[in-house]
This record gives sequence, C-alpha cells and structure tokens, in this order.
Amino acid sequence: MIADKARLRSIRRLERIAGFRLPDRAFHGVVLDTLVSRLDFDRLDPTTREQLLEFIGDFLRCDCRKAPHCGCPERRFAATVLELRESGLDHRQISAHLDEVYGIELFPADILSYLEDSVHVLEAIEKVAVLLDRPSVAAGARTHIKALER
Ligand SMILES: [Zn+2]
Repeated sequence: MIADKARLRSIRRLERIAGFRLPDRAFHGVVLDTLVSRLDFDRLDPTTREQLLEFIGDFLRCDCRKAPHCGCPERRFAATVLELRESGLDHRQISAHLDEVYGIELFPADILSYLEDSVHVLEAIEKVAVLLDRPSVAAGARTHIKALER
C-alpha cells in the first residue's frame, strides 16, 4: 500500500509534544492515534501545526466506530495521490505537493510505481467489464487510465 511508504517530516517534533517514541510511518496506527489525541499543537511551529491539521482534516475525518483504524485514512491518502495525478501533476510534483501541504515524505519513484500498478488494475477491470458486458464500467476504467497516463 502506498500509505505504508509515507513518512511524516515532523515525527520527531510530534514525539516531543507526545512524550513518547513514534514509528516513522505516517499512517502507522500509533501515529494516527497520537494525531487524533488531544495534543497541544500550539507547542509546534506554525508550519508543522498547519501541515498536521491538514493531514488530520483530509485523512482522519470519518465516522467509523474503529476510526482511525478503519482503513479510511490509508484509502483516502491513496485516492488523493490518484486525484493529484489526474489533476495533471507528475510523480515528482505529487511528491513535492505532499511535502508542502502535509509534511509527508514520499519518494517520486514510489509514487510512479503506485501509479503504474493502478493503471494495471484499471486495465484488468476494463477487461473483465468487457467480458461481462458492462460497457459503463469499462468506459469508466478507460477514462481513469487516460487521465493517469497522459
Ligand atoms: Zn473510517
């Protein structure tokens, strides 16, 4: 999963206000728990605070009973990467955008292989949809393939 490769630049600063060690992975359950706990974000510098609030706002808002352990944060993050690609950013620009907005470190090469994998999944969906005579599903898959490959 692409979310497993994402790291938070501010993890050491977050550790300092949490008071305990945190794993490096941004979407590790312990990190997500820490982000939704009532930490004193005012002790962070303004940029880090802003980035963590964006992270929480975009990935950690759902009403699942098991939140943030429901899988929504990881799915939302994966969808965000695809949306950024479909909006015209390339893998390097996506990496820079994630860093700037959320303080997330994700290598362009990892983004590129995730985008390629996504195209392969969509191609498989398109083939099955054609076999099952589901033209609208096939067309939807094709639209996304085009948007990801351009
Ligand atoms: Zn959820």
